[in-house]
Amino acid sequence: DRFPSPSAHTRALQALDSAHFLHPFTDHQALAAKGARVITRAEGIYVWDSEGHRILDGMSGLWCVNAGYGRRELAEAAYRQMLELPFYNAFFQTTTEPAVRLAQRLTALAPPVNGRRFSHVFFTSSGSEANDTNVRLVRRYWDLMGQPQRKVIISRWNAYHGSTVAAASLGGMAGMHAQGDLPIPGIVHIEQPYYWQHRRSDETPAAFGLRAARWLEEKILEVGPERVAAFIAEPVQGAGGVIIPPETYWPEVQRIVDKYGILLISDEVICAFGRLGHWFAYERFGTQPDLVTFAKAVTSGYIPLGGVLVNERVARVLIEGGEFTHGYTYSGHPVACAVALANLDLMAREHLPERVRHDTGPYLAQRFAELTDHPLVGVAETCGFVAGLILVRDKATLAPFPEEWAVGMTCRAHCFDTGVVMRAVGDRMIIAPPLVMTRADIDDMIALIRRALDATW
Ligand code: PLP
Repeated sequence: DRFPSPSAHTRALQALDSAHFLHPFTDHQALAAKGARVITRAEGIYVWDSEGHRILDGMSGLWCVNAGYGRRELAEAAYRQMLELPFYNAFFQTTTEPAVRLAQRLTALAPPVNGRRFSHVFFTSSGSEANDTNVRLVRRYWDLMGQPQRKVIISRWNAYHGSTVAAASLGGMAGMHAQGDLPIPGIVHIEQPYYWQHRRSDETPAAFGLRAARWLEEKILEVGPERVAAFIAEPVQGAGGVIIPPETYWPEVQRIVDKYGILLISDEVICAFGRLGHWFAYERFGTQPDLVTFAKAVTSGYIPLGGVLVNERVARVLIEGGEFTHGYTYSGHPVACAVALANLDLMAREHLPERVRHDTGPYLAQRFAELTDHPLVGVAETCGFVAGLILVRDKATLAPFPEEWAVGMTCRAHCFDTGVVMRAVGDRMIIAPPLVMTRADIDDMIALIRRALDATW
C-alpha cells in the first residue's frame, strides 16, 4: 500500500482535500479512495511528502522547475518587487520596469533566423492564455493584411496547448474535445509525427518524417490555402507522451508553411528555456516561427507567467493596425516579470541550456538508452532533457500490452513508491527532470527507474 499509516495530520488534509478541492485533470473517486499525496517541501531535485518520504522529481513539477527547487534569489526577487511595486497594469498607456526589461531580454535571447527577428512580447499568466492570445492574434493579423478569409488554424491530434476553450480546441486530445463541444469552429487537426504508431513496415524514421510533414500540405490543400491562417505545434510533443519527431519533419514543415505563406506558431511552453538544450526549441530544429508560445520555465514555475514572442514582421502589422482589443489584468505582472528576470540570470550564469546540450543531455540519453535491456522496455528516446520509454509486451515485435492492464499506471505508482516521479501516457513512461541535475543525479534517477521497472515486471 502506498500509505501504510499516514499521520493524523495527513489524513485530516486528505479529508479536506476530498471535501473541497476540485483538482485539475483528476478522477476524484480514485483520489478519495487513496487520499492525495501531500507534498510539503522541496530542495534541489527532490520533493518531500507529509510523511517524510523523499521523491526525486523526474517531471520538474509539471515540466517547469528547470532551475530546481529552493533557489533563494527567485524568492528574493519576488519579495523585493512586492515591496517596491506589487502590481501595476500595462493597460491605458502605463508600463512597469520589470515587464519592459523582460520583454527586451526575451527578444534578445531569441536568435533571429534568416534575418527575421523577434521584436515584441505579449505577456499572459499561463500557456493556455498565451495560446488563446495566438488564436486572436493571428486572426487579427490576417484581417489587417486584407485577407480576412484566413481564419483556419491547423493543429495536430494528441497535441496539448492548454485548457481554455480556444487552447483545448487547438489541442488534439479527444477526451478534452468530448467534454464541451470542442473544437470551436476554424480549428482542424492532422496526425502527429509519431513514428512508433504510424510508421509503415520498413519505413525509416527519415522517410516517415517527410510523409508526416506532408499531412500538413494535404490538409492545407483540403481546407484551401487561402483560408489557412496558421499551423501550431509543439517542437516535441510533451503531454502527449514526449513524441520526438524524426529530424526530417521540421524542415519539411517549414518548407510547406513558407510555400503557402502560413504563420508558424511554435508552442514552446515545455520545450523552451533549456529543456531541449537551447533557450528556444526552434533553435534545435532550425525552424523560423512567427510566434513562440512560452510559460512554465520562464520563471522555473516559481510564479505564473506566460506569453507570446512575436516576430517583427507580425508585430509591425499589429502595431500599425491600431488597438488590439485583447489583454489580461496580469499581462506583464511586475512580480512575475522580476522573478523571470532573476530566473533567466540564474540559468545563464549556470549555463543550463549549454549543459543540457553538451553534457548532461547526452549523458541522460546514454543512460536512458541502457534501460532498453530491461524486459519491459521496447524503446527509449531522449531529446535534451525530455525522455520517454515505451513499455511493451514483446520486445521483438514491440507488441503493446492490452490497454486494460494499465501497465503504465502501475509503473507510475511503483515509481512513486520507489521515490521518483515519472508520468505515464498510456504505456509511455516519460520524464522531464530539472536541468540542474548532475551526472551523479542522473545515475540515481536511472537506478530508481530501474527498480520501479523491476517492481512492475
Ligand atoms: N502548451 C503546452 C505545450 C503545454 O505543455 C501546456 C501545459 O502543459 C500549455 C500550453 C498550457 O499551459 P498552462 O497549463 O500554463 O495553461
